[in-house]
Amino acid sequence: MSNTILPGATLGILGSGQLGRMFAIAARRMGYRVHTFSPDQETPTGQVADKEVCAPYEDLDALAAFCRDVDVISFEFENVPSSASARAAQFVPVRPRGEALHVIQNRLREKTFISTHGFPHAPFRAVRSRAELDAALNELGTPAVLKTAGFGYDGKGQAVIRDATEADAAWQAIGAVEAVLEGFIDFQGEVSVVAARGLDGSFAHYGVIENLHHNHILDVSIPEAPLSPRLATEAVEIARGLMEQLEVVGVLCVEFFLTRDERLLVNELAPRPHNSGHFTFDACLTSQFEQQVRAICGLPLGSTELLRPAAMTNLLGDLWTDGEPNWAAALADPQVKLHLYGKAEARPGRKMGHITAFGSNRDDARRRAVAAREALLRR
Ligand code: AMP
Repeated sequence: MSNTILPGATLGILGSGQLGRMFAIAARRMGYRVHTFSPDQETPTGQVADKEVCAPYEDLDALAAFCRDVDVISFEFENVPSSASARAAQFVPVRPRGEALHVIQNRLREKTFISTHGFPHAPFRAVRSRAELDAALNELGTPAVLKTAGFGYDGKGQAVIRDATEADAAWQAIGAVEAVLEGFIDFQGEVSVVAARGLDGSFAHYGVIENLHHNHILDVSIPEAPLSPRLATEAVEIARGLMEQLEVVGVLCVEFFLTRDERLLVNELAPRPHNSGHFTFDACLTSQFEQQVRAICGLPLGSTELLRPAAMTNLLGDLWTDGEPNWAAALADPQVKLHLYGKAEARPGRKMGHITAFGSNRDDARRRAVAAREALLRR
């Protein structure tokens, strides 16, 4: 147990959003101290952490000072520069390691990694210039999706190209930067696997989660997606394989497209707890956030058992358009749990919180989660 970071130690988290907040809640419950580092102040994570450090990720001196005070570094935001994780690694263990982040934070590197290691994916081509976009469109055909290589999430930095005449507009729309052109997948659904990998290589997962999106943003997640046992096993084995190949210690989410002919294609990876795993906070014996704590501290992973059928629905800033949502109306269903992230300003599309609802089965849980959200608008 010499590698074990025991309760009482201080965990450093880079990033300060809701994922760090829920990580900090899980960590503090287990007796750890939590420090957060990000360019922002009064953050969702900072509000519940022991210490909030506000500095740019590029400020390597501030980062070094931060690292001297903590026993391990992890992430809740993967787009920190490689120089930051490399600097941190000079002082403390960084989990997951910076090399895994480096691969995942750029779509081109990520997709190339997925492809080189033999995992299934949508056809893609690298696009570094307008001319390369034409060449890629010739090879892949239309419809296709143009995605920036860097800093994309929730459908940001993406443009659908329905036919070649839309190429110019799409290239301008994403800002004429390094990109990936991907064949458009006419999928029957989207699913994810959230999994954890311990310091000793142990592996735990939450099964396959069904995800419903609205405007490219996750809307509803329901565990135990109704897949054939063969596909469910395949999804989990892909997640395991990716974590092993990337040597991830921590939590990783793999998002998949499920094609109409019943094939799984890896769409995206996130080297941290994921929105689609938020239901685990209330509904599983060990949440994805506690798993992250256990993994980075070298502790045994906990049971991922789902205690009862559950569903999660996101609460976006749009719900605040006509004033404060009606919290009491949503909580009138006693099977509903409310999570708010402490964000001061509600903007349309901004993730402000989520609701987890329990039910007698998947459909009942989903119905209750969506109904509770609708109740928020009741005046
Ligand atoms: P991403 O940021 O790559 O996860 O994309 C956000 C959402 O856009 C996905 O969850 C899909 O709903 C949609 N999308 C992305 N890529 C494709 C594709 N190649 N074909 C069809 N839909 C896509």
